[in-house]
Amino acid sequence: MSTLLRHPRIYTGSAEQPFVTGLLVDGERITAIGTYGELVATYSPSTTIDLPGALVMPGLHDAHIHTAGVARALAAVDLRGARSLGEALATVRDHVSSLPSGSWVFGGRWDRNKWAEPVQPTAAELDTVSGDHPIALASIDGHTMWANSEAMRRVGIDAAWPDPPGGMAVRDTAGNPTGILRETAQDPIDELAGGDDDLVGPLLAAQEHFLSIGLTAVTDLNGEDARAAYLSMKDTGTLKIRVVKGIPMYALQSAIAEGRRTGDGDDWFRVGPVKLFSDGALGSRSAHLSRGYADNPDNLGMAVMTHEQLYDAARAAVDAGIAVAVHAIGDQANHTVLDVFEEIRHDTGTALPLSIEHTQFLQPGDVARLRQLQVTASMQPTHCTSDIDLVAALLPEHDVVGYGWRTVLDSGADLAFGSDAPVEEANPFHGIHAAVTRQRSDGSPPRGFQPAERITVAEAIAAFTTGAAKLSGVAADRGTLTPGKLADLIAVDTDITDPAVVTDEPLRIRNTQVLQTIVGGETRWQRD
Ligand SMILES: [Zn+2]
Repeated sequence: MSTLLRHPRIYTGSAEQPFVTGLLVDGERITAIGTYGELVATYSPSTTIDLPGALVMPGLHDAHIHTAGVARALAAVDLRGARSLGEALATVRDHVSSLPSGSWVFGGRWDRNKWAEPVQPTAAELDTVSGDHPIALASIDGHTMWANSEAMRRVGIDAAWPDPPGGMAVRDTAGNPTGILRETAQDPIDELAGGDDDLVGPLLAAQEHFLSIGLTAVTDLNGEDARAAYLSMKDTGTLKIRVVKGIPMYALQSAIAEGRRTGDGDDWFRVGPVKLFSDGALGSRSAHLSRGYADNPDNLGMAVMTHEQLYDAARAAVDAGIAVAVHAIGDQANHTVLDVFEEIRHDTGTALPLSIEHTQFLQPGDVARLRQLQVTASMQPTHCTSDIDLVAALLPEHDVVGYGWRTVLDSGADLAFGSDAPVEEANPFHGIHAAVTRQRSDGSPPRGFQPAERITVAEAIAAFTTGAAKLSGVAADRGTLTPGKLADLIAVDTDITDPAVVTDEPLRIRNTQVLQTIVGGETRWQRD
């Protein structure tokens, strides 16, 4: 029972046979590739499916994303623009119509002082647009929450509920809460919003979003709650993207104790690396530099973990079979991580994947060490274009390789790309555009930021496919559309491999629309 997928332009990502017109798929895997005619003649497939759009390409894998953060942001409704209670209710109604049944809705930021009539809203009004969703909406200043009846029911706020110290539920004359919760009375719902034990609903919505932008796999670096939610989605058969789940540092000891090892799992869900932190971030001046920030030369940023702490945590992980990913932005942070990885490779002889997450600023002398130590540079192209002004302001004279994907590739090191969403948008075509042009979404600066670091579309796709797959230990199964690999592919409306698109209209790369997303040989998402 094989299916032939047909399209005039299928980019396989393989150097030997980059373009074909047919993919033969048996179950979850690709079994043969070639011209449509050859494949029909040789295999007489039972069905042929024509794929839409201008290009078919491998499904993309975001190597660094916080999917629970994306899910919470997607689930949050934004009422800042509402100018009346009616407008606020209409916004909520629109928002919940796209969400999976029964999922929590947070967000809000409503400001009744901006409403035509500054009324105090009620649960009863919110109930009229809620469907079956529990909804809790914080006011713009965060001191008041507007909850619907289902939200209050789920946390047990009713007539019998006593007001907590430092807070109160507004009540009607019969003592029933009206839906307005002040100060600490919000806490029972806030706890859910922060440490969400109901992450499945938001993640199901986020999963649809990921499929719609061409992601067929993610390496998630959120917490253990996201792990639990993904495992529950897998159990109930609702997991449609492939998940590599990172281990947060707080869970390293428990992961070791339970014998969790990187690579455990299957094609849909597998254990990834532990994530450690070497420093902070550039914008908050906490990225660890070897030379002071231009606006405060005494400040070198900070080492979030010292060399010894990084070594001890990485060593404990590696000894237990867990790969290591370390966040490092500043050049000194990257230098320290490379020193630590050098010791780890030397002392343990491990072949486990080691990566530096972000790898934003490298000392020129450190570049060659990436390949020597088999350390993957796991980078996010849109951070570069978001940070252009920041780099000019804070590091004008620093002798560093900044967001240097060209330099990294030329050194022979492995490169994986991701988004770091929700810090940036998850859309990988924004990342490919930024990697190839080093330009912002408005096309500035004209030649791109430090244009010598631009790479080709094929190289950018590779970092989002084979690069991410290799870092995840699944290079044999994913990354290209070649025989033996999983049939994870997307059909898009723009042929981004056409050199004229890059030279003449590069923004078309960024604006690429996904039309159909196939994971494991099955269509998981399709544009209406
Ligand atoms: Zn991140």
